[in-house]
Order: sequence, then structure tokens, then C-alpha cells
Amino acid sequence: MKHNVNSYIMPTYGERTLDFKEGKGVYLISTDNKKYLDFGSGIAVNSLGHCHPKLIQALQEQSSKLWHISNLYSNTTQEAYAKLLCQNSFAQKVFFTNSGAEAVECGLKVIRSYHHFHKNNNKKNIITFEGAFHGRTFAALSAQKNKKFSKGFEPLLSGFIQIPFNDCKAIKDSIDENTGGVMIEPIQGEGGVRPANLHFLEQIRKLCDEMGILFFLDEVQCGFGRTGKFFAYEWANFEPDIMAVAKGIGSGFPLGACLSTQDACIGMTKGTHGSTYGGNPLAVAVGKAVIEEMMQKGFFEKVEKIARYLWNKLKLLEKNYNEIEEVRGAGLLLGIKTRKNNLEIIKLFTQNGLLTVPADDNIIRLAPPLIILKKEVDEAIDIIEKTLQEIDD
Ligand SMILES: *Cc1c(COP(=O)(O)O)cnc(C)c1O
Repeated sequence: MKHNVNSYIMPTYGERTLDFKEGKGVYLISTDNKKYLDFGSGIAVNSLGHCHPKLIQALQEQSSKLWHISNLYSNTTQEAYAKLLCQNSFAQKVFFTNSGAEAVECGLKVIRSYHHFHKNNNKKNIITFEGAFHGRTFAALSAQKNKKFSKGFEPLLSGFIQIPFNDCKAIKDSIDENTGGVMIEPIQGEGGVRPANLHFLEQIRKLCDEMGILFFLDEVQCGFGRTGKFFAYEWANFEPDIMAVAKGIGSGFPLGACLSTQDACIGMTKGTHGSTYGGNPLAVAVGKAVIEEMMQKGFFEKVEKIARYLWNKLKLLEKNYNEIEEVRGAGLLLGIKTRKNNLEIIKLFTQNGLLTVPADDNIIRLAPPLIILKKEVDEAIDIIEKTLQEIDD
């Protein structure tokens, strides 16, 4: 095969043309000096926007002290950061990773090791849901059973049972003596910005308790303030046993974590898991600064308020423009389902200075930084409306 001399990068992302040189807050500047309003946030990552001054400071200070030591050594800052995560969630223990897929991987190991510890040798199966996305590792591919991502990579891992999303009867019928846990995204991100019913989540919790199995949330995309609460599960009346987080946790610095109750991770003993970089001093410094910023008084209230403002504006567009079939999602993780091809409309938005990202089910995903202001929402809405008018013409 001929070597594509235009790029030395494996072409897994297809052809890429936009090239950015800097960012500030909700804006990005391309190498050809065009300014873009960033409603993609690097796929729900830049929770505090681009180049937040507090995060720059945290990273710069840490970078002149210590970059890497290995998890063979104790680390006061890492310990303090883990404590902060636990104090602000259901969890009592943390395993640090560098990405979402690794956090998912760890959570799956927590489930298997829990039942191994308790000698429940039959409880190997993990229930997952149609439309799920948990990452690109073999475990994630096996869990989400989406051919779009797994084709050509078989054989996958066994032990994953997939059932319909938001279906109370299906979950009741499929949990049996061979089930070890249930893994779900409170809001499916890649699968099409589809929120789980809170009642559905509460029912899974109840069933897990009855069966002595573990409830594992994947909040890699919807966690860290994206829904207007620190974690999406806080909208419902329950707590999980395990939770994977990443994306917004580092606002752009590679970091992830698997959170767990003390009980659930009882099997994760010395030597059972590891990560060379996980919870590295640079990542921890940034992660700590992110959480401190989010824990400022009124932060989540502000997110909720601006999210409601954006929601109402989008709902008005849904009413006024036939091109929009539906607006859905929660907080600042929203999806516009369009009648025309989503990718074509995303291209038009981009031409007009607004960056968004696609999701399955013909969705245009909006996930702006959580620090977005009203005037920036207005600017985005103007671009969306202008684009819709162009389409209608
Ligand atoms: C993005 C995502 C992942 C994978 O995270 P990576 O950092 O890309 O490995 C897992 N689960 C969910 C819900 C995600 O949105």
C-alpha cells in the first residue's frame, strides 16, 4: 500500500483539517487565525475552559518541583487529592488512571475481584446496555458490543450481557445467579446523548442490593459538574459501588480515576492492579486545582443556571426550525437530533465559527466548558440559528 506522505499519524481519525494554536476560556484560535467558540471542549474534557489561570499556575508550580516518581512510593499530594475526591462523592477508595477506558477497565476488575474474594465463582457476568460507550480497550469493546468499534478486533472478551437501555423489565429479567455487576452511563454520551431515567437507575441499585452484586457507573463523560451537580448520580436517590471518571476531571490534562466503596474493592489487594503513570504528580496537581475550583461556592448553581438558559434557547429553536427533530440531554451535555445528516450541519456550524461534536443517532453534541457565560451562549445560539436559516433557504 502507498504511504500517505501527508501524515505520519495512523489515520484512525480520518482526514483532519482544523489546526488550533491556542485557546482561552471557551474560545480556540486556529493556525489560520480564525476564532472559534468551542462547544465541544475536546469531547467534554475542558471543563474549566482552555488555559484556566488557576490550572496554569498549578501545573507550572508542580512542573518545577517533581514530574514523576512511580506508585511504588507514597505521595502526600496524591493522597490528599484522593481524599478530596472521596469527601465529595460516595467513594472511600480511588485508583488513578490516565484515561477513561483505563478507569472502566479498573472498575470491571473491581467487580470480578470482589466476587473472587467472596468465592462467588459463578458471578462472572456483567450487564451492559445498548448504545453504551466505555472506551476503546478490549474490555470496553466487549462491554459495549458496538460493531462500529469492534469490527475486525474479534475475539472479544466473554461475560458481558447486553440489554436495552431504560428498560425496567429487561434488567429485572436478566439479572441472575451468574451476574456479578451492572455497568451503565447515567447519560449515554457517544451513543446519542441519552439520559437514563432516574427511576431506572434507582431500580438497578435495588436489584443489585437484593442480589449482592455491584453497581458500576461510567461517569467519564457526564461527571465532574457537566450536569450541574458534581456527579450525575446525585440527581437520583442512590449511590453506586464503583464509578469511572475521566474527561472533565483534568480539564485537559490526561487523568482518570476509578472510585469505589471500601467494600466493593476488597479484592483489589497488593499486586492485583497497577499503572505506571496513574496519579502522576503533574496530573494530581491539575486535578486538585480543578476540584478546588468546582468546590467554590455557587459553581454548580451557576452551571445549572447557564445550562437551563441554553436548554430554553435550544427548545425555542426546536419549535421554530423544522430541521431540528429533538433537543435532549442534561446540564451542559446536550444533543440536537437533526433531520439532515449531523456531520453536514456540524461542518456548517464550524464554518460559522462554532465547534460541536457528533454522537450516534444523528446527534450534534454540545458540551461547552462549564465556565461559559450567558453572552457566549447567545453567540452560539446566533450561529446555530443563522446556520439553520441558511439550510432552510
Ligand atoms: C470517552 C469515554 C470513555 C473513554 O475514555 P478515554 O479517555 O477515551 O479512554 C469511557 N466512557 C465514557 C462514557 C466516555 O464518554
